Amino acid sequence: MTKEEFREALKPIGAGLLGRPSQQRYERPHFPIRPIGDMLLDLAEIEPWEWYGYAFSREPLNGKFNDDQRREWMEKSLACGKEYAGIVCREYKTRDPKELAKAMGMNVSYPEFPEKTDRVLFAEFRVPDKVCIYMDAVNKAARLFLNPEVTRVLTEGLDVSRLLLAHELFHFVEERYKHEIFTKTEKIRLWSLGFIHNDSNVIAFSEIAAMGFAQEMMKISYSPYLMDVFLVYGYSPEEASGLYEEMMQAANREPRPAPQEPSVSEEMTI
Ligand SMILES: [Zn+2]
Repeated sequence: MTKEEFREALKPIGAGLLGRPSQQRYERPHFPIRPIGDMLLDLAEIEPWEWYGYAFSREPLNGKFNDDQRREWMEKSLACGKEYAGIVCREYKTRDPKELAKAMGMNVSYPEFPEKTDRVLFAEFRVPDKVCIYMDAVNKAARLFLNPEVTRVLTEGLDVSRLLLAHELFHFVEERYKHEIFTKTEKIRLWSLGFIHNDSNVIAFSEIAAMGFAQEMMKISYSPYLMDVFLVYGYSPEEASGLYEEMMQAANREPRPAPQEPSVSEEMTI
């Protein structure tokens, strides 16, 4: 994927960005652009469990659930991610995602862009053991740390590539423990007919748990879901602002108004 293709692929952010395929392309409305520091400040105040509206909004089976279920599964999935972060950190005696990946025999690479244009993502895991962290996005995000507000909210020296790696590490860990781990054993009954049942995994459980795992490993207080806004901002402040609105509304909060752009008459007088 070239830089231009990647930028083009980022435009319709119909799906979340951490490891999920983009589902559809459509024309999005225009969004007023807000400063990245302001958006991160608001998003960091959303408690990790409060992200269930956003977390399930990308889930194909979401229409079958109600809010009580979403909330309960959010808490269980987050707890699952945190629990397994503790298990692997104790087992390998490190909480550095790079050290852990190495110790677990994972194959991690850091290409600039994804190979294929049909997937919009910043990092991905491929069964059985491959993780790619796409560095163009990480490097763009690193430049945003020059903004003191960003540094203050996200923690000084936050290593974004390690955070992305921690998320993907969880997907490896859940494969290893697939016979016992909540995200793989908890299934939803789609239908039954006599003795025949059709049960399905819920992708959102895995994604939420991966966020809980990454949060625990990186010792951050906010939900890594806000990285979607942070990483998109490097490419499109407008798309990032749209995503911010969606996240705020999903958490039942009012998005802050965008700073006023100077009107034509004001510009004339400058
Ligand atoms: Zn994921």
